[in-house]
Amino acid sequence: MDVLIAGAGPAGSRLAGNLAGKGLSVILVEKLAKASQNAFSSAVVPIDSIRSGLIPEESVSSYWKSWNIFDPQGIAHQWTNPQCLGAVLDFQKLRENLWQKAIDQGVIFLSGCYVKSALSTKDYVEVIIVGPHQEVMTKRVLFVVDATGHSRLLIGKKQRDSNFNGDKILIGSGIEWIIKVDINQFKRWDDRITFFLGSKWVKNGYAWIFPMADCKLKVGVCSLPPLDERKINYNQINLLALKNLISRFDMVDSPVTDKHGGIINSTINRREAHYSGRIIGVGDAVSTANLLGGEGIRHALLSADVLAPLLVKACKLSSNSNGYFLLLHKYQKQLSRKLGWRWAISNRLAKKTWWNLSDQKGDKRIQMLIKSLSLKASADEISALLFDYRFERYGFRLLPYLLMGWRGV
Ligand SMILES: Cc1cc2nc3c(=O)[nH]c(=O)nc-3n(C[C@H](O)[C@H](O)[C@H](O)COP(=O)(O)OP(=O)(O)OC[C@H]3O[C@@H](n4cnc5c(N)ncnc54)[C@H](O)[C@@H]3O)c2cc1C
Repeated sequence: MDVLIAGAGPAGSRLAGNLAGKGLSVILVEKLAKASQNAFSSAVVPIDSIRSGLIPEESVSSYWKSWNIFDPQGIAHQWTNPQCLGAVLDFQKLRENLWQKAIDQGVIFLSGCYVKSALSTKDYVEVIIVGPHQEVMTKRVLFVVDATGHSRLLIGKKQRDSNFNGDKILIGSGIEWIIKVDINQFKRWDDRITFFLGSKWVKNGYAWIFPMADCKLKVGVCSLPPLDERKINYNQINLLALKNLISRFDMVDSPVTDKHGGIINSTINRREAHYSGRIIGVGDAVSTANLLGGEGIRHALLSADVLAPLLVKACKLSSNSNGYFLLLHKYQKQLSRKLGWRWAISNRLAKKTWWNLSDQKGDKRIQMLIKSLSLKASADEISALLFDYRFERYGFRLLPYLLMGWRGV
């Protein structure tokens, strides 16, 4: 066997399909038994990622063309584009689609099994997998990929040992409920993505309502508190904020069809190790998620696309241990170049924005930003800001806010 991939999220399953498509033998191991389990991602993506084929169209649940933001005082601001600006995905369908594509390429897919450990030697990696009935299996492969997302199961220790070169990992946690509403209620949220910003909605984060197919709404809350406040029980605080939102918009009696949640984490500069011997990280495991808009699906897929050709070459070079080392070394640089310098600025702004959004001062600042956007920006410019990180397009009115974010971190 050439490669074993731990984790079949967007990054792991895309990579598995890519590698098998190039003739490698690949095992993909996923601890979930079904794609429907904990489909945690609210999964908003820009339209380009669908049009370019990066994200399969079959996974789209609804399209949107307006940004709708409730400010700290509860006033709604809306920016509408004549054409579609993005999509809300059904994360279950995205997983199913990517899993099926991997299987069609010949990947051996072990769902309901988890990778317990991986030991990298000079010539191979020995992996221990635990099956659905707790049976233990051992596999020997040329390379192992850690695609376990925020848990960074296999690569995390090496990353922590190097202390991220001072680049601390920032952590956000979110919960989301899927609520089925009647058509009249649905119309209020259809065609747009709605965010709630301000400490009265949720401290150190944001809340959202996104439309899905079949009159369903994704209603969620995510908070990214300062690291020293992580001990506070943010799950409880998020749950309270979510319930307040549901009650405020008269959805208390509407059926909740699913409840899920997850962690999103990233460093600002992505300086942490991307590989350790023959174990390589991909997707959230190497901080591809951007924390400003809590967006990681596109970037996780991109990291798989960057890694695949290098890993194909590395498998062919396997007898030459220095050769693979050089190839893996290129991976981090190529990925950083693809994500671009704007990506890091955006994460820096995320830290400043979410850490400070906890009191009146933070509320005032966000209010000022929303006001500036109302005066200056169109809907597609807001998309360019949050998806392409094109901060400079807003001219001098926004610069003080952005520079405050830059200097303060
Ligand atoms: C609340 C929330 C909302 C979000 N909203 C958006 C959004 O609107 N748009 C967007 O683009 N991104 C969003 N994201 C981020 C996005 O979902 C992630 O960045 C993306 O899923 C990362 O993909 P991944 O493959 O790297 O990791 P994951 O999707 O986390 O996949 C990792 C996989 O590894 C499996 N796994 C873990 N441990 C093991 C093990 N030991 N053995 C086997 N399998 C294992 C897990 O079950 C999981 O399936 C959101 C995240 C959260 C938490």
